[in-house]
Amino acid sequence: MLGQGLQQDTTTQSTTCNDKIDSEKIFVTRSFLPPIEEYNKYTAKIFNNAQLTNQGPLLLELEKRLSEYLKVRNFQYVTNGTIAIQIALKVLGIEDGEIITTPFSYVATTSSILWERCRPVFVDIDPDNFTIDVNKIEEKITPKTRAIMPVHVFGYACNIDGIQKIADKYNLKVIYDAAHAFASIYKGRSLVSYGDISTCSFHATKLFHTIEGGACIIKDDEISKKLNLIKRFGHNVDEHICLGINAKQSEFNAAMGLANLPYLSNIISTRRDISNLYDKLLSGYVKRPKPQQDLEYNYAYYPVVFKDEKQLLNVFKTLNEHNIFPRRYFYPSLNKLPYLKEYQECPISEDICSRIACLPLYVGLQPKQIEYICSLIKKSL
Ligand SMILES: *Cc1c(COP(=O)(O)O)cnc(C)c1O
Repeated sequence: MLGQGLQQDTTTQSTTCNDKIDSEKIFVTRSFLPPIEEYNKYTAKIFNNAQLTNQGPLLLELEKRLSEYLKVRNFQYVTNGTIAIQIALKVLGIEDGEIITTPFSYVATTSSILWERCRPVFVDIDPDNFTIDVNKIEEKITPKTRAIMPVHVFGYACNIDGIQKIADKYNLKVIYDAAHAFASIYKGRSLVSYGDISTCSFHATKLFHTIEGGACIIKDDEISKKLNLIKRFGHNVDEHICLGINAKQSEFNAAMGLANLPYLSNIISTRRDISNLYDKLLSGYVKRPKPQQDLEYNYAYYPVVFKDEKQLLNVFKTLNEHNIFPRRYFYPSLNKLPYLKEYQECPISEDICSRIACLPLYVGLQPKQIEYICSLIKKSL
């Protein structure tokens, strides 16, 4: 690690292996970085042609490469995964009304709905894979319902067929917050290819990143064309066509994406190996989600469920004392956000949120460190 020479312990004689691990902070994730020369190869092109943003050549190349990788037709890259959700609501003409969604996600799922002046209607989750419980959706549909916004949380697939059946029956749009779903494959198709629109995030903490970044994957060609306008202020040179916003991305972000992309399959297989080692070491100690059948998982996260919140806090205390910082993903359950106007009960999500955490998972995390993390967890259970 950088700077390690400066922190060298003068009492090396008594330094055990664990002490050494202890001195280095381990967070829940660490951004993947490509070799700097490979990034610079792309930035040299930017310096050469002086186009820094506005659908530049690197961005167009990244869009093309990602849509080929995902095998999807309408792939629109945007500035981040939050604006992707907001633009998805806008382009589908959903400006008010109720959106059925999950309380078990990152705050951006709910905040985007609120920001677009819609009302989030929370449906509780499946206790096995933490995605929206498809059997509880219909009872929440009212004449004001406009769309369903489920989340493929941690990269696990929602009950896509069940959700689509309900959407068809009630003429609702389906927008998947697929921020975790990039590179998961479900029933032979990219998990991000389902619904009217799926949204992705390429934030630095995600499986594949462009520092900041996001995308919409759109079923309908016309909607995709409109989205392509909306993300660029809604105009073509002097012709102003519709209300737009600025969701364009810079060439430097695209350069990072292009430099990272060749490492994607390595990133996924390394994360799979880490997850398998955790599985082996923690089997019987913590509860793990049950992925759906027909899912080729992307290993985006390593969530574990403890017996109760007390046990979770105990484990966190021990790990934190040893410079290890897992995160409570997700906490609190989003139906309990303080700025919501009313409380909608979701007992399963609230229970899971009180005792779930994600363990460190990133390229570069060493087997020794994983063994150490697991031994500390077992000790504090
Ligand atoms: C990260 C994330 C987002 C937001 O993506 P950004 O690119 O950070 O704006 C939205 N939803 C979920 C579930 C996320 O994890």
